[in-house]
This record gives sequence, structure tokens and C-alpha cells, in this order.
Amino acid sequence: MILYRAHLLDTPEPGRLRSISDGALVVDGSGRIKDVGAFPVLGPRHDGIEIRDLRPHWILPGLIDLHVHLPQYESVAMDGLELLPWLNTHIFPAEARFADADLAQKAARRFFGDLLSLGTTTAVVYSTIHQKATDAAFREAESCGMRAAIGKVMMDQNAPEALSEDTEASLQQSAELIQQWHGKADGRLMYALAPRFAPMCTRALMRGVGDLSERTGAYIQTHLAENLDEIAWVEKLFPECANYTDVYRRHGLLNSRTLLGHGIHLDAAERTMIRDAGATIVHCPSSNAFLESGVMPLRRWWEEGLSIGLGTDVAGGPSLSMWNEMAMACMVSKLRFALLNDANATVKPAEAFHLATKAAARGLGLEDRIGSLDQGMDADFIVVDPRLADPAERTDGAPDRVLSRLIYRADPRMVKATFVGGKQCFIQGS
Ligand SMILES: [Zn+2]
Repeated sequence: MILYRAHLLDTPEPGRLRSISDGALVVDGSGRIKDVGAFPVLGPRHDGIEIRDLRPHWILPGLIDLHVHLPQYESVAMDGLELLPWLNTHIFPAEARFADADLAQKAARRFFGDLLSLGTTTAVVYSTIHQKATDAAFREAESCGMRAAIGKVMMDQNAPEALSEDTEASLQQSAELIQQWHGKADGRLMYALAPRFAPMCTRALMRGVGDLSERTGAYIQTHLAENLDEIAWVEKLFPECANYTDVYRRHGLLNSRTLLGHGIHLDAAERTMIRDAGATIVHCPSSNAFLESGVMPLRRWWEEGLSIGLGTDVAGGPSLSMWNEMAMACMVSKLRFALLNDANATVKPAEAFHLATKAAARGLGLEDRIGSLDQGMDADFIVVDPRLADPAERTDGAPDRVLSRLIYRADPRMVKATFVGGKQCFIQGS
């Protein structure tokens, strides 16, 4: 057992910060939080165990990215196009290169290493259509210690030649990967079936994905109502469905383990379908701005009771940093308020932090394991130096101000160490 002494900060409830200025986090040999509280109380209680004094650093729960594309990492920041031409011009050629498993493995190593260095402890990841590249991604996540749900992209219609799949082969390969990886490494590795989006999936493929998720408990990740041209295309391809969300509902893709990227342009009936299914919308504000897709009314839909988390959506978003994504969630909400007369739009840093931790954990059904610093949970936490986000380099301060600076002024060096399941997976400067 090890006792980490630092300022503790988390948000178990939306917008409510919980902070202990001289805190102690006791982690046991199985990687769980054995005890948490004030150091003057816990120090004597755990007399004789190893103490690591991390002051003046702070301990926060690890960040959770619910939507990110591993093979697109090296294609970030390709400005100038909307979703569909951007996919054809920049993204599909990059994904086709992942037929080379060696290239895929090297890319996966860089990708997970960078995520951990930014304080992300859990990521929900799209690979490419390639089984070997997806297997390589799992192996790299396994060896670096990251918590991840990963899935092979599935596309069996309207995809470019090099990325087109046979329906049965796509389902078969996904089933093999689920068998191999879902629930492995003590539950740290999970499978997230990844039908790319409705325009590139046949009805048979989507039904097969729904069945696989039902049978195995694997997650489903896909894209929904991101771009107006995309929506018009879906309406043309699936005239029997009431709307885009109904395409997924009818083919068995909407369940409580479903993560829907974007969901910008949704009507009330669609939101009811999503809420009734218990599916989660992954808000990707950087990507939504970068690809000129739109501005999701985050607060309004959150208050309607939808389950919502955040995603960087690299390479739609230009950065792997969840700090950046939290800042964008706040900034974009302020623009809604200022420009669109949406009176109750503004989202505060403590709320964005909740979305990137506890709410995301809830979206994954893992709220009793990750997302906050509670006794009995897996010890997924980060050690942060707040001085690097502060021009005055203060070591103390009101928690809401410190968190606000961490989010709006994130410094790439401010995450000093990253722990997943009690194991140190990253240390600054190593
Ligand atoms: Zn995406």
C-alpha cells in the first residue's frame, strides 16, 4: 500500500467540486483506492505505510476521452474542408496505410503515450478496418497500461475501394477481436464495435453489430448527425426510417452501451429515442468547430436528462488534450449564449470537468470504478502541477480558480504523472 499526499480535487456531482487541501489517497496492492480523506486523519490511521509526498502538486481523477481515432492522429490540423470531402481527401488515405501492421503498431505506441502524458487514463478508440492494426492497438494499450475500449472500423458500402469490407468478414473479424480482448487485463481493455456511420454501413451489418453487442456486452461507437450533407445522405439511403437516429434504433444499435459521436443536429423525437435507450452522446466541440459542423446545445440537452461525455475526435479535433476539449466545451457554450441568444447555454469549468470524468464513466457504465476519487474505486488518477498553468505560479488557491486555470491555460508539462489502476503509466521527464 502507498499513501499519496497532495491536494485532492474531483467532481462527483455535476458542477460541484470536492476538494481536500491536505489530502491523502491510499492505494492498495490491487490498484484500488483503499482510503481517501484528510492527511491529518489518514496519516495516523495508516501508520507505517509508504508515504509519497507530492505537495504542492494536486491529484485529480484521470480524464476520459469518449471519442478518438487512433489512425488519424498524424493527420490532425488539416484545415479547409467539411466532413465528407475531409474524409475523402485526408482521412481515408491515412487509414488505408494501416494495412501495414508494423506502421500501425508504431502509431499506436505514440498515440497512447501522448494520451497518458496529457492526463487521459481512459479512451474510447476507433482503429481502422484492419484486424491486425486493431490487434496491435490493443497490444500497445495492454503494455502501456492505458484503460481503453477499442474497435475495428466497419464499413461495407459507399467506402473507398481500399477500405471496403465484406459484411460477413467484417462481423467475423470483430467477433474474433471481442473474443480476444473484451474484458482482458482485469477489465482494463474493452471492445467497442465501430460501424463508422450509417452511410457506409448496410442494414445487415448494423443488425449484426447489434446482435454482437447484445451477445457479448461489447460497446458500440458510431457517428450521428454531425453534418447537414451527411444527414441528407442518410435520409436518401434509409427512406423507411423516421430520422437518422431511427436508422440506428431500427437496426439494434441503440442500447445503454452505445456512444454516439457528435449528435449536433437532433430533433426532440431523436433525443427521446436516445434517452429511452440509455445511450450516450459524445460532445466533440473542437471537431464540431474545426469541420464547421455546428454548435450542439450542450447544456439544454444535458438538462433534458441525456447522458453526455466529451471527446477530442482527433483528427476532426486538432488535439488529443482533454484539457483543450473541456476549454472548448466552455468557450463554445459561451458563444451560444452570446451569439445565438441561448440564455441558459453557458457551461462552467467544474461542469466540463464532471463531463470529462464522472459523467463519461457513467456513459461507460463504469461509474463505480472510475471518474472520481472514492474509496473502493480503481486508482485512475493524475498528478498535476497547477503552477504551470498560472502566470503567478501559485501553489494554493480556491479550487474553482485552480481548475479554471488548468482547463483554460493547460500546459503540456503540467501533468507530472498518470496512474491507471494504481500503476504509474507516465512520469514527466522520463
Ligand atoms: Zn469521429
